[in-house]
Amino acid sequence: MWPGGGYSRGESMSGRIAMAPIKSSWPIIVARLSLCLLVWGAMVPAALAADRNEPKRLLLLHSFGRDFRPWSEYARSIKAEFEQQSSFALDIQEHTLLSARFNSPGPEAPFVDYLRSLYRASPPDLVMSLGAPAARFVQKYREQLFPDTPLVMTAVEQRLVNRGALTQNDVVIPVRNDFTAFFGSILQVLPETRTVAVVIGASPLEKFWLDEVKREAKPFEDRFELIWYADLSFEEILKRASTLPPHTVLFWQLMSVDGVGVAHEGDLALRRLHAVANGPIFSYQEAFFGRETVGGPMHSISESSKETVSAALRIFAGEKPGDIKIEPIGFAAPRYDWREMQRWGISESDLPTGSEVLFRERGLWERYRWQMAMIAAAFLVQAGLISGLLHERRRRRLADVESRQRLAELAHLSRYAAAGEMTTSIAHELNQPLGSILTNAETAELMLKSASPNLDELRAILADIRRDDQRASEVIRRLRSMLKKTPFEIRDIELNNTVRDVIGFVADVAKGRGVVLNYLPATAELRVRGDPIHLQQVVLNLVVNALDAMSEIQTGKREINVTTNVSGAWAEIRVGDTGAGIATDDLKSIFNPFFTTKPQGMGMGLAIARTIVEAHHGTISAANAPSGGTLFKIKLPIARQAFALQQHD
Ligand code: ADP
Repeated sequence: MWPGGGYSRGESMSGRIAMAPIKSSWPIIVARLSLCLLVWGAMVPAALAADRNEPKRLLLLHSFGRDFRPWSEYARSIKAEFEQQSSFALDIQEHTLLSARFNSPGPEAPFVDYLRSLYRASPPDLVMSLGAPAARFVQKYREQLFPDTPLVMTAVEQRLVNRGALTQNDVVIPVRNDFTAFFGSILQVLPETRTVAVVIGASPLEKFWLDEVKREAKPFEDRFELIWYADLSFEEILKRASTLPPHTVLFWQLMSVDGVGVAHEGDLALRRLHAVANGPIFSYQEAFFGRETVGGPMHSISESSKETVSAALRIFAGEKPGDIKIEPIGFAAPRYDWREMQRWGISESDLPTGSEVLFRERGLWERYRWQMAMIAAAFLVQAGLISGLLHERRRRRLADVESRQRLAELAHLSRYAAAGEMTTSIAHELNQPLGSILTNAETAELMLKSASPNLDELRAILADIRRDDQRASEVIRRLRSMLKKTPFEIRDIELNNTVRDVIGFVADVAKGRGVVLNYLPATAELRVRGDPIHLQQVVLNLVVNALDAMSEIQTGKREINVTTNVSGAWAEIRVGDTGAGIATDDLKSIFNPFFTTKPQGMGMGLAIARTIVEAHHGTISAANAPSGGTLFKIKLPIARQAFALQQHD
């Protein structure tokens, strides 16, 4: 309950003190007067302070309900304005007329009685009506309810104010519905529009507005057809709105009571309509903008609220309401909902000049700024890593090429060394055919000196000379190919032949050293990817080492067995000897550079051999054979194509 009295309490208190009877003599009078002044002096500031703290009482009367858009939005905005603008406490009590939500005038008397009994003892400081039905109600019953209370009628269309009943205690903050501007703006943004369907109810107020709409739409008769749903149930309206013919727009006017007498809460009704409608919805009420309507020229709630609150404050400050005159407020500058524009294909270039576009959907970048930044950062880091790795790979490749070149050079030197070691054998190998050639040539000369040389014999001698010459040439060819300085070059080779060449090269050397050199190639072709000269060097090195190992033994078999064969996906070369074998402790070191047990050894042969084999993605190993001697195994991957064919066979 509101406390009684309000700012009239201070007045009545000072009045009572002033009217106290004067009966005593002068001294007593003076004493009493002094006392009175003291008491008065003490009480007045307290009373004024109480007055300042006393909240102003405002009765806010709604037309349809506290949550009925658009008026609910006006109420919210007015309260927010009061909070901002007033320096005193305000007690707002809100009531709602229910009678406006009947399609025939509802019973008003009980509501009047209710308000009268509520406020008879302590009328409010100000009455404020929201919307036309509330304005009409307070004007009608103000004599009975609040004859002396100032009245502010706001959010009411100018046509619905009963100007004749206005008193000096009333202020109107009217709005003006400009249907011509409204329809004009629809045609501007959607020039193809052929039908405007008015969604409106059947209450007396809605009927009034329908007539007004029809009247003001007359100038547009040749541009579009006006239809209205005033006689339909809202369910039927929803059905029709979902199957609108092309180029039809919906005009959301007001829906408080539908054609079959069902009352609707505006907010929910519009949401349902928006959910099913297959055409754009227009309304000049800002309260619907931002959710369901396209936009256009609309009443500005904040503009009306500001005017309303400033009028109320002027009244509270003592100004006479009758002196406050406010012109009807028209539509504000047009505003459009970007999302609805996209939905209905409204181009920004078609909007009236001065339009504002709101609710633009933020682009991916704006919406996921952080996530995108993180992804971009991760992407950059990844790109940096990739380029770093690529750079590293390139460097490794260069290093690889470099190391192969060095290897080739080293291998070349190593071959020279091996050839040097075998000079005697090679010289012997060359001397033999050369000696035969000389002997045969001398014999032939002698035969030619006779009177009748035996031609058949001469022919045989010449054939021998030719054969020996070829033999000598072959020795030189092999030596040259062994000593050729070649870069490391991988290609498809046949391993049996590669190994055979080495055997041919050292066969005589072995023979000269009294060693039996056997070669047993694989029965099938052995295709690998490799550099033949370097692989030959590896085999040669193993054979020369085996020959060396054999030179130490005095008794027993002196034999070297070289074989090639297939072992799964690998081509295998085995070089076994019947030498003294390798001391168990030395086995793990023999592939290390400079490891040697020979007085004149360099200890580089096996180190180079391992490097060459690994450059071919293969392996080399050594073991002592159980029967004595050493067995070296080289494994090289069979060329992929050859392996596939082999599997197929
Ligand atoms: P070098 O022949 O100059 O010593 P290598 O690297 O070719 O260098 O060989 C290293 C060592 O491995 C040899 O000194 C020898 O002790 C041992 N070795 C290699 N092959 C055999 C073999 N078939 N039998 C016994 N020992 C071997």
